[in-house]
Amino acid sequence: MPEDANPFESLQEQIDDAAAHMGVDDDVLERLKNPERILETNLSVELDDGSVGVFRAYRSQFNGDRGPYKGGIRYHPNVSRDEVKALSGWMVYKCATVDIPYGGGKGGIVIDPREYSEAELERITRAFATELRPMIGEDRDIPAPDVNTGQREMNWIKDTYETLENTTAPGVITGKAIDSGGSLGRVEATGRSTMLTAREAFEYLGKDLSSATVAVQGYGNAGSIAAKLLQDDHDATIVAVSDSSGGIYNPDGVDAHDVKAFKNETGSVTGYGGATEELTNEELLTLDVDLLVPAALENAIDRDLAAEVKADVIAEAANGPLTPDADDVLTEVDVIVIPDILANAGGVTVSYFEWVQNRQRFYWAESRVNEELERHIVGAFDDLVECYEELGLPNFRTAAYVVALRRVLSASEEAGRWP
Ligand code: NAD
Repeated sequence: MPEDANPFESLQEQIDDAAAHMGVDDDVLERLKNPERILETNLSVELDDGSVGVFRAYRSQFNGDRGPYKGGIRYHPNVSRDEVKALSGWMVYKCATVDIPYGGGKGGIVIDPREYSEAELERITRAFATELRPMIGEDRDIPAPDVNTGQREMNWIKDTYETLENTTAPGVITGKAIDSGGSLGRVEATGRSTMLTAREAFEYLGKDLSSATVAVQGYGNAGSIAAKLLQDDHDATIVAVSDSSGGIYNPDGVDAHDVKAFKNETGSVTGYGGATEELTNEELLTLDVDLLVPAALENAIDRDLAAEVKADVIAEAANGPLTPDADDVLTEVDVIVIPDILANAGGVTVSYFEWVQNRQRFYWAESRVNEELERHIVGAFDDLVECYEELGLPNFRTAAYVVALRRVLSASEEAGRWP
């Protein structure tokens, strides 16, 4: 297992790397490297057997200079204060990279949701929503799904908020089911931006995606949809995929839809009949492929593993899958890394469209959602490349942070220093 880099330190290092090319004063930078406020709470919830479960939960509001705080809610045993801080900071720079009018936030509960019944998860989620109620709102802080949360949890949070506020406010949360005010295209959005950025990067490098081999680590929402779109829209060959149970491999390719159907049925990708062999996650990450899509959790690739990576391009569907050390190694050997704050920004971009539709009470066709998404993502990719070439930056990540930091700094300076 790779070293456990502290994700908050990774975020701060990424900001420092970009700021070094911009001449930002340290005191100004300090504010942009730390959250504005963090809620830490212990949720006490009655469990099905009558006992009381206590669950630590967090919400970090990192920076609101460009608009309401925005970011997901994660349910995972490894959720920690530093992880939530890091994830909320990445949201600030992600929203600025794709130029949508939000700041950044993130939340989470320390829990393994597989150990609880649906009724218990509903009570836990509603308890969290009750704690969050004073700090969230359509114009204040707008949560969304993240690892192990989805439409079901978003609907519960919306209902809890609306009931307590005695109003209807579907824009208080995004990633809802369609009948609860969700947007068409939201479920596919993160995988779609991963595919779009890979397409743009291959074009920029003069490489052909239709003859490319692809390995995907983490076959959940982001990873499986990226794989399906790369296969369906671009004829790429998905040679390996994995989840927390391990990986599967077939040099001639597996069918992305078929593997997902198998995982939905059995709970994991391992055991899939179309594979020629099974792999560990580390073996998958070091396969000789054209495109590697890490789509699981942070710190999947550290310095040692990075030295073994043979992919030409990495599209970070997950948040923070490379440690900063790994980034240095990959920059050195000219592996092109499409950074998370662009590659997976489709999720928050379509969340923004969902919020716009909720505010207008007017809903778009899926084709319009996908067209607007493509416009934002391709525009952001072009801004990144322009900055990368103009400043002669070492890698795409630094370019994305420079673009984003310029936008956040500008809003911060325009707002002034009060109180
Ligand atoms: P998900 O829960 O749907 O899928 C995660 C997948 O990763 C699961 O298949 C799980 O089995 C697998 N996994 C967990 N640990 C693993 C390990 N050690 N090795 C291999 N696989 C492992 O979650 P998701 O929504 O797809 O999110 C995945 C990543 O994408 C996270 O980093 C998340 O923050 C990021 N992301 C998601 C969205 C979104 O809209 N869903 C948006 C932006 C970023």
